[in-house]
Amino acid sequence: MFDNIGRKIQGLAKFCCWSGIAVFAIIGIALIAIGDEATTIIGIVIIAVGSLVSWIGSFFVYGFGRLIETNEIIAANSPNRVPTSVEFTSKAPYNNPAAYAKMPGVAVQQKRCENCGNMISTDICPLCGNVHGETAKKMASLQKLVKDGVISAEDYNQKMGGILK
Ligand SMILES: [Zn+2]
Repeated sequence: MFDNIGRKIQGLAKFCCWSGIAVFAIIGIALIAIGDEATTIIGIVIIAVGSLVSWIGSFFVYGFGRLIETNEIIAANSPNRVPTSVEFTSKAPYNNPAAYAKMPGVAVQQKRCENCGNMISTDICPLCGNVHGETAKKMASLQKLVKDGVISAEDYNQKMGGILK
């Protein structure tokens, strides 16, 4: 309803101009049709002056509409413009996980901690310290080696330190 308001104002200016000219023309013709000299002169003057006033009057409204339209075009092409909400949601990087993951400072949290439910992006939950996935498997196998006496507790700590790095 209020989209392209600049264009609509320009259309309104044209409409008002032409309808004004039409109204003055009808009044003028009616006066001329009466037939005596005085009303004929007044009729001609009304057609001429009325049309001119309608035309000149529309300049301001048309110019205002043109100004808004030009401003909208400039704003739409500005590199600093704020995206509209529709563009923001359709072009937002979070709708494109691959692009989003490349953004600096963004950690894509794809899984949930099995222990506390915290969203995590690494195997170790920063909230409760619970270990998940491959890291949990490696940790379990190293712990088994310690229990079986294959490696020492010191070796375990060293290897785990390497995994966690
Ligand atoms: Zn947790």
